Amino acid sequence: MAFEGLSERLQSALAKLKGRGKVSEADVKSAMREVRLALLEADVNFKVVKNFVSRVSERAVGQEVLQSLTPGQQVIKVVNEELTKLMGGEQSRLQLNSKPAVILMVGLQGAGKTTTAGKLAHHLRKQHNKRPLLVAGDIYRPAAIRQLEVLGKQVDLPVFSLGDKESPVKIAEKGLAHAKENQHDVVIVDTAGRLHIDETMMDELRGIKEKVQPDEILLVVDAMTGQDAVNVAESFNREMDLTGVVLTKLDGDTRGGAALSVKAVTDCPVKFAGMGEKVDALEPFHPERMASRILGMGDVLTLIEKAQASVDEEKARDLERKMRTQQFTFEDFLDQLEQVRNMGPLDDLLGMMPGMGQVKGMKNLQVDEKHLTKAEAIIRSMTLQERREPEVINASRRKRIALGSGTSVQDVNRLIKQFMDMKKMMKQFQSMSKGKKRGMGKF
Ligand code: GDP
Repeated sequence: MAFEGLSERLQSALAKLKGRGKVSEADVKSAMREVRLALLEADVNFKVVKNFVSRVSERAVGQEVLQSLTPGQQVIKVVNEELTKLMGGEQSRLQLNSKPAVILMVGLQGAGKTTTAGKLAHHLRKQHNKRPLLVAGDIYRPAAIRQLEVLGKQVDLPVFSLGDKESPVKIAEKGLAHAKENQHDVVIVDTAGRLHIDETMMDELRGIKEKVQPDEILLVVDAMTGQDAVNVAESFNREMDLTGVVLTKLDGDTRGGAALSVKAVTDCPVKFAGMGEKVDALEPFHPERMASRILGMGDVLTLIEKAQASVDEEKARDLERKMRTQQFTFEDFLDQLEQVRNMGPLDDLLGMMPGMGQVKGMKNLQVDEKHLTKAEAIIRSMTLQERREPEVINASRRKRIALGSGTSVQDVNRLIKQFMDMKKMMKQFQSMSKGKKRGMGKF
């Protein structure tokens, strides 16, 4: 999970200050030593760590913090604010001013450039009502063009390609002309990466830049490569004048070194974070929300946005009615499971809930994901009648369902019991709230 290691270390370093009525300068100093180690271990650039710790220390030993009623909380607040600043402060948005606006995707091979081009197109259409055109300019990596075309199909957006015989500069130029003719308002140009930075690649990218005059030049880097990602960003920025960075594979980056150092080292803002392989796993990068996630304070805003994007309002209303009238069936249950799934991996979601970092057993969440899969398989093995009237599921049906779903009869029993318990609870809530209303009427 993103930042898991860093998050644990930082939280344990700061936990000692929390809840104390009095905090001395020495306490702050000792906590800061641990914070420093935690950041270095997370592969944050050492100069960045040095500056960060000295800024936090200076503010934390100030009178208004140590003399406050909740000094420990105040120190954590300072750390939160400084982490936010470190990652760029305010969210840095795309500036798409030209018509059509051009986004140039650059980066080394394997960083996730092609995938991110597809994700970004999907994001711009879904969240900003744009009509993006994807341009396949990576003519060197075998299968990159095909990969973009598959992605385009998946998100139902057109891909402009001239095969691998034309030069990338020509492809970009013709792609832009095609976009103008076909009223696309955004053009996303995928370019060729190399294994290492070399002059030929830079020359080619400069050539494309000159021809299409991009509004945005986004560098895609793999967050899991830590400081290497930062070095790559520094070099690209020197040559290309980047407008932003996209950090991919943040879902697997437990350390967070790149996320915390890129802006401070290169002065180039992180605009998006890749959180998985799926096409909707791209999040606008909000420094303040990231800081909160790292400190275990959760990220309720992103969670709500995800819920809004993936939960069908009509269905939610329908569900609410069914729960109220106790018509909730296994079919609805399955629907719910799917909606939760659409929001992303379970452990990512829980990471956004405040305080979840400290909950024991967070590491075993993989197991919970398996529970969901099991529940889904069991419900799928039920007939329509069984899903609607679970009362009919007798012993022989249970055996059949277990066999069909590759689970055991105990698993099936457990799920049915949980479901029945849930229904009973809903009934109780229902009568409780009725009782309350009646009770209130007496006064
Ligand atoms: P390119 O050579 O830069 O175009 O890289 P690709 O787009 O082909 O991506 C390389 C690999 O990284 C692919 O297997 C992608 O599925 C994977 N990938 C890209 N972005 C992410 C991400 O945010 N999270 C994870 N887990 N995998 C990613």
